[in-house]
Amino acid sequence: MEQNHYDLVVIGSGPAGQKAAICAAKLRKKVAIIERTRSVGGVCVHTGTIPSKTLREAVLYLSGLRQRSFYGRSYAVKDHIAMQDLVFRAQAVMAREIEVIKAQLLRNQVNTLEGTARFLDAHSVEVVRDDASLVVRGDNILIACGTRPAHDSQVPVDGKRIFDSDQVHLLDELPRELVVVGAGIIGLEYASMFAAVGVRVTLLDQRPILLDFADREIVESLCYQLRQLGTVFRLGEKVVSIGIDDERDRVFARLESGKTVHGQAMLYSVGRQANSDQLNLQAAGLTADGRGKLIVNEHFQTSVPHIYAAGDVIGFPALASTSMEQGRLASCHMFAKPSTMNSQQVPYGIYSIPEISMVGWTEEQLTQQKAPYEVGRARYAELAKGQMLGDDQGMLKILFNPDNLQLLGVHAIGDRAAEIVHIGQAVLALGGTMEYFRDAIFNYPTLAEAYKVAALDGLNKL
Ligand SMILES: Cc1cc2nc3c(=O)[nH]c(=O)nc-3n(C[C@H](O)[C@H](O)[C@H](O)COP(=O)(O)OP(=O)(O)OC[C@H]3O[C@@H](n4cnc5c(N)ncnc54)[C@H](O)[C@@H]3O)c2cc1C
Repeated sequence: MEQNHYDLVVIGSGPAGQKAAICAAKLRKKVAIIERTRSVGGVCVHTGTIPSKTLREAVLYLSGLRQRSFYGRSYAVKDHIAMQDLVFRAQAVMAREIEVIKAQLLRNQVNTLEGTARFLDAHSVEVVRDDASLVVRGDNILIACGTRPAHDSQVPVDGKRIFDSDQVHLLDELPRELVVVGAGIIGLEYASMFAAVGVRVTLLDQRPILLDFADREIVESLCYQLRQLGTVFRLGEKVVSIGIDDERDRVFARLESGKTVHGQAMLYSVGRQANSDQLNLQAAGLTADGRGKLIVNEHFQTSVPHIYAAGDVIGFPALASTSMEQGRLASCHMFAKPSTMNSQQVPYGIYSIPEISMVGWTEEQLTQQKAPYEVGRARYAELAKGQMLGDDQGMLKILFNPDNLQLLGVHAIGDRAAEIVHIGQAVLALGGTMEYFRDAIFNYPTLAEAYKVAALDGLNKL
């Protein structure tokens, strides 16, 4: 095989690209991964998952929020929390993550090429770096170019007073008041982090309800707890214009209803735009939708069968967790090692404060399907571990079929919700029933014990 000819050329070194490249390399294929930035890892490591979740850990630690039920509402580890305190930890974690990924690629002999990729034809990709370029050819190509924050030319995003989620960790100081436009997952997560460190947050969204795919009872509890942190919700409100009032050094959002919401700063978080517009897709015979998303089949093949796409560029659910698996599955399919993903057993973790997690069906979906179900609940306040952690608002809720006791869904809010949901995920995947939770012995005291308490609660209703 000639030097620049590969079994697989991957465009983008985020979670989808990395896992596809490593999977193919493990199958003894010759692989190149192209990354336009100076460092591997993608949005996940540089501006998304890792920095935001590390920032959240810093917020939880420094604000002392978890300890307040013991030491009072004004308790904090540090009296004056500065932006630098929060991003310091994120920078350290990001640097280590980048080293881990680099080492993995190197160990697996994946050739990392720095430069911006664009198609020349369906098998050839030009890699442009500064004023030099290189052409690589791939028997297979994976597009894993990810997304960037969506902008509107009418909104003056300056990275200081109006910023997007990529710019949060570049802020010099914490604002006193923050307007968050867009109450999707990213908007909500950041809104709750800022609220937890004492910023007065107003959350705006034109949708009348938050997180419409999640359990309503859990979302109501989240709203209640965010209000306790001082967050103001303006839902069902369309923003018609956004601007900066230089004289007063304030930002504002005018709403269709006639109201104007002011703040010292604004997080503009209205969705994401795929980076496929920079790939010269037409040269490969491909087209994308208005937000740059590519359509793929169940094997992650685009309309050109040897060109695959995975991760955020194919849209929902657009998570690091699912992107990794999509990348791996795409490589498996290319090199005849097929396996599949069960979309019903994909867990979702929303790292607001408090965090939410879920797997399986919601009450709303089951009601729509006219599928009978019963509910069992365990409140953290009833668990010894919940008491010890100081989380008296958390809850685990399990849905099950009252006829055969099969588990149908798990929904959690509170400390470590995104961890404990995996117990439910395993039982769900194995077709397990409430009898498992009723009869199992769990370590004590743990939050996992919530499964037993919830199962007993649910079974007692039958
Ligand atoms: C604020 C925030 C918080 C998040 N939190 C979570 C979370 O808690 N849990 C979770 O599971 N997910 C989370 N996500 C989502 C997660 O980050 C993404 O789903 C994931 O990064 C997508 O991976 P990817 O491989 O598709 O693309 P990306 O990670 O976006 O990587 C794409 C890479 O392709 C490169 N690229 C693009 N175009 C080219 C080109 N032409 N040539 C060469 N290289 C190119 C880019 O530079 C980038 O490095 C979060 C996202 C954000 C923004």
